[in-house]
Order: sequence, then C-alpha cells, then structure tokens
Amino acid sequence: MQKKIRNIHIIATGGTIAGIGDAGQASNYDAGQLAVDELIPQLPPLGDQITLSYEQFANVDSNDMTTALWISLARRINDLAADPSIDGFVITHGTDTMDEISYFLSLTLQTPKPVVITGSMRPASATSADGMLNLYDSIFVAADSHSYGQNVLVCFCGTIYSGRNVIKSSTFQLNAFDGRTPSCLGYIQDRICFYYNNYHNQVYRRLCFSLDHVSALPRVDVAYYYTNAPADVLDYFASRCDGLVICGTGAGNFSEEWIEKISSLSIPVVRSSRVMNGMITPTSHFDRSANSIAAYTLPPQKARILLSLALLHTRDFAELGKIFRENELS
Ligand code: ASP
Repeated sequence: MQKKIRNIHIIATGGTIAGIGDAGQASNYDAGQLAVDELIPQLPPLGDQITLSYEQFANVDSNDMTTALWISLARRINDLAADPSIDGFVITHGTDTMDEISYFLSLTLQTPKPVVITGSMRPASATSADGMLNLYDSIFVAADSHSYGQNVLVCFCGTIYSGRNVIKSSTFQLNAFDGRTPSCLGYIQDRICFYYNNYHNQVYRRLCFSLDHVSALPRVDVAYYYTNAPADVLDYFASRCDGLVICGTGAGNFSEEWIEKISSLSIPVVRSSRVMNGMITPTSHFDRSANSIAAYTLPPQKARILLSLALLHTRDFAELGKIFRENELS
C-alpha cells in the first residue's frame, strides 16, 4: 500500500534556531534573525513522503513573546487545522519560554493534528548548531501517525516530550529539556519515531479553554519565596493582579507570615515550588484560607498559565481549585 504523503506546516516565531552570532560561538548571539525561508533550504532532504508549507508568524527572542501573541498563535493554528491539506504543524520557538507556550497551546488548541514545538540551544552560526536536526526530527514527529491526538509535543535533542509537562532544565546543554513529572514520550532518530508512552497513558484529563472573544488574559504574577522573604510584596502583587502563584520551597511551602498574609488577600493564590521534581497537594496547614490552591505537578510558570485561563471563566476559589485538581486526575 502506498504511504500517504503528509503536508507539514511550519510556523516560525524566532528564537535561537533563527539566531546569528560570532562564527563558531555558542553564546553571544541575537535570537530571531533568520527568516523561515532562509532556514528551510538548509534542511536535509525529507524524502518523497513529506511536503512542507511555512509561514513567519514572528521573529523574536522567546522572552519577547507576549500573551497577545500566544492568543493569536493559538487562533492561527486552530484556523489552519481546519484545512484538510495540512496534516501536522511544527512551531519553531525560542527555548527559554518553550515550556510556557507548549502548555498554553496544549490548553487552548482544539485539534488532534500533531503540533510539535522545537528550537535550538545553539544559533545557526555556531559550531555543531543543533537547530536543523531538531527541525528535521520535528517534521517527522509531526508526520508520524502515532503523534495524532497526542496534544502538543516538544521535540528536542532526539526526544519527544509532552508539551504539558516539559520544562527547560539546562541553560546551555543541547539536551536542555526534562519534566517535573515524566515528560518523555519517546525518541526520534533517522526519521523514525519510537513512542514508549503517550499522552493518554499519562492520564491527564484534557482541559480545553476556548479563546473565542478573548483579547487579553487575566494578569497572574509569580512571587518567589526564600528565607525571610518579606510578606509585604504580596500586597503589591495583590493590588495589581487577578491571581498569584507562589514559587515556594519544598512541597509549595513558605513562612507563617506568608500564610497569614495570603489568608488576607482577596485574589486566588496557587502554591507551586522552586523544586524541580515532585508535586504539591492540598494541606490544612498551608491551605487555611479558601483562596489557597495547590499546583500539584505544575511548576510556577505553568501554574500561572492555568490560573490565568481558568480566571476567564470563574473567580470562585472552590471552582478554581477544582480546575487545578481536574488538571491532574483522569
Ligand atoms: N533566548 C533564546 C530564546 O528563547 C534562547 C533559545 O532560543 O534557546 O529565544
């Protein structure tokens, strides 16, 4: 039987994969310099089972992405996904906030078509730049039938991760991603995907937030706890935000002074942690007031995305707590 030709649509947003700096150097470069039509010709041959289409959505360092750009990117993918001639998507993106965009898209895309996010740790001008291999691998992950219905994936350094769980874990190594909970779904090498796990086995209930009529997201900030951190900063946040995430110690912990201050605030406060591994569950000690919500497996940068999207629908503390619980349990 003849194999189906798959059309993969690439949406470029910038990042180091499009970066240029001093010849041969891995640091000291500017991200988001090369246009997607300069990157595509550098790809190794794809064979005759894949066709590409592509567009430049943005060309920025991912630290300059905004929630307005996130919303329009999600809308763009949702619109394009309705086109029967497109079988899957690859998004090129900076690695610094890749764990955020991957979670935002996983909560807002409505398509079962594969959406694979990739980038690179070294700019295109570096020795042994990793961008082209990551892009090449990602195209084959997006084209693989086993990627269908897997929600948003990140493909990096030969590894396929769940966009929900993946976290950037190295500032400079090529193998720069990991997860607080298992995020590796499989591997990719020489055009072949090896899936050992899948999104559905990971039991997370798929929460999906519609962006219809949404032009901006509620403001949710992150407050970092450390020894003797002053509690008055929480008043500052509360005066400006619709919700707050605490990057606490251990299992989402902080001082008695912070617990009392949080109890006095009228905004929802999600307890997450600066620790790379594990989860945070509700406790009577920390969650004394109705506005205190456990982040479970979400690190602060992902917890704030869920809280922000959830706040589009409800300001009720109990309802918000339910959304965080449902985000974990099937
Ligand atoms: N600063 C870059 C960015 O996130 C880093 C990268 O892409 O690796 O856009």
